[in-house]
Amino acid sequence: MGGLNPPPVLVATRSAHKLREIRDLLADVPVRLLGPEDLGLPAREEEERLEPFDTFALNALSKAKYFHRRSGLPVLADDSGLCVDALGGGPGVRTRRFAPAEWVDRWGRDEANNRWLLDRMGGVADGQRTAHYRCAVALTDDLRHEVVEGVVRGHIVREPRGTGGFGYDPLFVPEGYEGSYAELPEAVKAETSHRSVAVRRARGWIETHVVRNRGGRI
Ligand code: IMP
Repeated sequence: MGGLNPPPVLVATRSAHKLREIRDLLADVPVRLLGPEDLGLPAREEEERLEPFDTFALNALSKAKYFHRRSGLPVLADDSGLCVDALGGGPGVRTRRFAPAEWVDRWGRDEANNRWLLDRMGGVADGQRTAHYRCAVALTDDLRHEVVEGVVRGHIVREPRGTGGFGYDPLFVPEGYEGSYAELPEAVKAETSHRSVAVRRARGWIETHVVRNRGGRI
């Protein structure tokens, strides 16, 4: 027994970017963080309907419970998005599906979303372009569940900057920095982001219920 065969945790995301960020953030915790593909769980159409709720927390929990049913493993699920003050907090829980389908067909999802966001914010003055990213991380196993959250504040620039990160990162400048998350070193995002705050808050649950209980089955 011991650390030779760390217990598995399923990270309930089809996003390679999210999976990589979460793996990096938990690199020192003795668990095996597996994506659905690592377990041979094929993408199903029903996964598109796992986020019908008005809060990131409920959507994250919905994803976590769904993937727990499919795998039987302890699950960590992330639901996240961008909340722009000038858009009344939008796109919020609709962040992934923000741009219209025709724009997505034309440019692909991330670029379409970025273009759509800039289009919506065309008339918004520099001092009023404040926004935050929010991330809810849900954890569940056979016996219990928990949701923790993280937020990072910043503002939306007028054109994409940089090539790192993913999603809206070329447009988001975190508070206290000049560059966007796509320009700044990865270590800055790992230190400050909504996901890093939430994942830091999720550590205790994983250490208590997965590492110490070897999979949560007491
Ligand atoms: P979800 O997969 O339903 O949680 O949707 C997340 C949406 O928010 C996607 O459009 C992502 O591109 C965007 N998003 C979440 N976290 C980040 C981030 O760290 N950087 C950039 N975009 C993000």
